[in-house]
Amino acid sequence: MCAVATEAVIDSRVQQFLNTPGKLLIDGRWVHAASGQTFAVLNPADGSTLAHVAAGEKEDIDRAVRAARDAFERGPWHTMQPAVRAKLLWRLADLIDEHADELAQLESLDNGKPLSIAKIADVSLASEQFRYYAGWTTKILGDTIPIGVPFLPDAQFHAFSLREPIGVVGQIIPWNFPLLMAAWKLAPALAAGCTVVLKPAEQTPLSALRLGELICEAGFPNGAVNIVTGFGETAGAALSAHPGIDKIAFTGSTEVGKLIVQAAAKDLKKVTLELGGKSPNVVFADADMASAIGGAASAIFFNHGQCCCAGSRLYIEQSIFDRVIEGVADEAKKIKIGPGMAAGTQMGPLVSDEQLARVTGYIEAGFAEGAEAVCGGKRHGAKGYFVEPTVLIKTNAKMKVVQEEIFGPVVTAMPFKDLDEIAAVANDTVYGLAAGIWTQDISKAHRLAKQLRAGTVWVNCYNVFDAAMPFGGYKQSGWGREMGFQALNNYLETKSVCVQL
Ligand code: ADP
Repeated sequence: MCAVATEAVIDSRVQQFLNTPGKLLIDGRWVHAASGQTFAVLNPADGSTLAHVAAGEKEDIDRAVRAARDAFERGPWHTMQPAVRAKLLWRLADLIDEHADELAQLESLDNGKPLSIAKIADVSLASEQFRYYAGWTTKILGDTIPIGVPFLPDAQFHAFSLREPIGVVGQIIPWNFPLLMAAWKLAPALAAGCTVVLKPAEQTPLSALRLGELICEAGFPNGAVNIVTGFGETAGAALSAHPGIDKIAFTGSTEVGKLIVQAAAKDLKKVTLELGGKSPNVVFADADMASAIGGAASAIFFNHGQCCCAGSRLYIEQSIFDRVIEGVADEAKKIKIGPGMAAGTQMGPLVSDEQLARVTGYIEAGFAEGAEAVCGGKRHGAKGYFVEPTVLIKTNAKMKVVQEEIFGPVVTAMPFKDLDEIAAVANDTVYGLAAGIWTQDISKAHRLAKQLRAGTVWVNCYNVFDAAMPFGGYKQSGWGREMGFQALNNYLETKSVCVQL
């Protein structure tokens, strides 16, 4: 690993945005938190304060939910022509692209990820979400249903279904892809005609606030999107328990997902959850070695391992174990670590000191249970929240590092014997979000893909996303799916209308 030095210059508009204390977006206006309190947003590269934003709490959530409810009841968001709704979503996508540099800088400063990644991945995938769902607004169709009543043989009916927006939606998002997660959540909900209260993660609220400004600039009706920054235990908990919302959509840890379900159960709100993972990445001996090694490394090291679908359990067929481990470790050693804003950085800091402590704690727990690091294994530097990309061997299924989600650049590697053995081993986790398979044997790939209990299976690739392709978890990795028609469906109710003729 080499440190990089040169910091990119912060755009003057970004600097101005950072200097202006962040407010809450409620009913189309930017307002202070009712308490008047703010909190500091830190730069994970050095722990310095980047900005201050409003500390929204229960009273602010109440105000935002009221605004979203009024906007839903009075329209015009869900009553406007679908094509007009589509134009607004498309306009927002264009504004995101027009402000891509600025948004990428905010994301890099706030989250720590490399500026280039923020621009080509986070920002461009975010605008694509809005474009994809703009297309759906005009294609939300019901069915006509041929029905009959046995004891009314002569009666005739015209029955059909309508798809209607579910209503007011609370959305709580994490810090690993702050802008993109906001887009994953907002785009399908808005396309369906719902109004929204969005709560960004307290670690990374900045790009969502800038997105809020672009939403206002695009001309969305007041109250269609409300944004309340604040902490999980206060603003997040108030939102998930609020009786005024019809549905809660959450992305984050499985632990908090369970709290959301409990809070939502009181009034049986609809819930969708995109939660943690411990995804297996399986390399067979007949794989194309260069792509499998590069793929295994990027499956865990992309976004510093802070991906719910990170390929964090690497299973390698026995005969090629040493070769693949050496290759992945070589890739890890080449990664340039530095502040996200520095030219040439390939891996930035983890998002917070809490995450730094969590990830290094897991590495230590691995060592205590007998694991060995082929590379990495500790914090990088003394300033900021950097961790070395780490490959652990001599691990086994019982270890904490193999069972629990680490959410950092740490992969555990284990050899396996053959296809018959690997499915059960790969499925031996409470999670089921994603999996990877590397082989040139197409039949083997399909046989294993079928057996894996995971919401996404990548074959000879990893971390490939498209707004059209559903993503979400089996088992404790979640309820429902993000993206594709399935995410739109999360925000729609079905009404059957039955007319006797
Ligand atoms: P992580 O553990 O990786 O920080 P979390 O699941 O804690 O992820 O956070 C994801 C989102 O959930 C954040 O927006 C956070 O504020 C929110 N959150 C945390 N705790 C709660 C809670 N008790 N109720 C509702 N939202 C919460």
